[in-house]
Amino acid sequence: MSDSKLILYPIDPIWCFEPTELANMLASIGLLGQAFLQKKEARNSHFYYAGENFLQLIEFVSSHFVRHLEIVDGELVETQISDSKNSCYISLELYQEPSFLGSALTQTPFCTNCRYVIEDWTNLVSDWYSGKENYVWHCPQCQTVSAIYALDWNKRNGFAKCSIDIWDIWLDEARPSKKLLIDLKRITDKEWTFLYYRI
Ligand SMILES: [Zn+2]
Repeated sequence: MSDSKLILYPIDPIWCFEPTELANMLASIGLLGQAFLQKKEARNSHFYYAGENFLQLIEFVSSHFVRHLEIVDGELVETQISDSKNSCYISLELYQEPSFLGSALTQTPFCTNCRYVIEDWTNLVSDWYSGKENYVWHCPQCQTVSAIYALDWNKRNGFAKCSIDIWDIWLDEARPSKKLLIDLKRITDKEWTFLYYRI
């Protein structure tokens, strides 16, 4: 299993879903299949297989091969090769407070007003962590004042208290369909967007 994900998250960084209720709604539109336990995760995560409409709701432009390995008679053996789009799984993630959803490989963000490139974004994120409620960023080029959430992270990062993570999707391989984004808005009364995560 890979740690590359397509992450769907609400644009409102403070709002959070109730996971059982959201899971039922996402199962009813065919995004989520059966629930399963993923023991390696320590966070408050709820895992699901893909539902019957997964490949309509998530639009793939490409995919990759997944090699399945098992230990047979003490040796690691390749038992199967599959198409990654048929082996994705989904988790609903909850966080105590607005959280940085990107990874160490997140790219430099921009000022949305003048496109100033924020090279020292790791310092920006750590400053935000030390005082989230009052943190604002001042653009040194155009003097615009922005919340950290409002910067342009180029779909490589976002901030939220909850997310729908679709595992084993590499950068730009797939995106949520228009229908899924409309369904999410109808179900939650919130606008949603997405990012790509990889480590
Ligand atoms: Zn600016």
